Amino acid sequence: MQVAVLASGSKGNATFIEMEGVKLLVDAGISTRRIKQELSNLGVDIADLDGIFITHEHIDHVKGLATLSKKYRIALYSRPETFRAMSCYREIPIECLNPIKDRVTLGRISVRAFDISHDAVNPVGYVIQGSSRCVVATDTGYISKGMQAMLEGAQVMVLEANHDVDMLKMGPYPRSLQLRILGRQGHLSNEITAQTLAKLKNRPKKVFLAHLSEQNNSPEVAMDTVKSILAQEGIEDIELFMTSPNQCVSTTY
Ligand SMILES: [Zn+2]
Ligand SMILES: [Zn+2]
Repeated sequence: MQVAVLASGSKGNATFIEMEGVKLLVDAGISTRRIKQELSNLGVDIADLDGIFITHEHIDHVKGLATLSKKYRIALYSRPETFRAMSCYREIPIECLNPIKDRVTLGRISVRAFDISHDAVNPVGYVIQGSSRCVVATDTGYISKGMQAMLEGAQVMVLEANHDVDMLKMGPYPRSLQLRILGRQGHLSNEITAQTLAKLKNRPKKVFLAHLSEQNNSPEVAMDTVKSILAQEGIEDIELFMTSPNQCVSTTY
């Protein structure tokens, strides 16, 4: 499989996954032009996408969706409440909308939506399962038991490491916004992300640290925190990748 985080963070999110010949995106929160360019850099034609899976309706996850679906008529998948809550909902060609509850099969892979905890109508993460397994989980305030189970056995993971708790508390955000981010429907801290990884029985080989805050985190702090917590647990076999708002980061497994 190939996993490429085209962009990640509060300015826009999109992840490309190719597994068993099926090509898909999780989220399309950057412009269609950028998605086309990044995919082309990977040798992928945007028109060959088999589907786009939306995690939730926030603009940093759906910004490119209207243009993309009108121009290329790619099948979109998400929970029905999410579709209806998207600001671009009425611009999407109706035949592109494929509401799902939890699972869909595309070729030889299955994609499963699972509940996450975020201040959106019905947000989800996705398990992409073929002969290998990839999980995308960002924009969640905490990791429930159900989520932890979904993460088990994935070889590659895109997992949120949004903030450093001290940087957030000492940073410029108003108290109300700090509390939203720290809350049960906010975003994951570097520490919780590391502890989540450490708790797994079947650890991933490769993990993308995703959706980093530009105000309340830095690539260095996120990487150091996650690495040192894992090292304390004696875990040194996970390859960590830093994602970026403006640069594609890609790996194969
Ligand atoms: Zn987001
Ligand atoms: Zn969000």
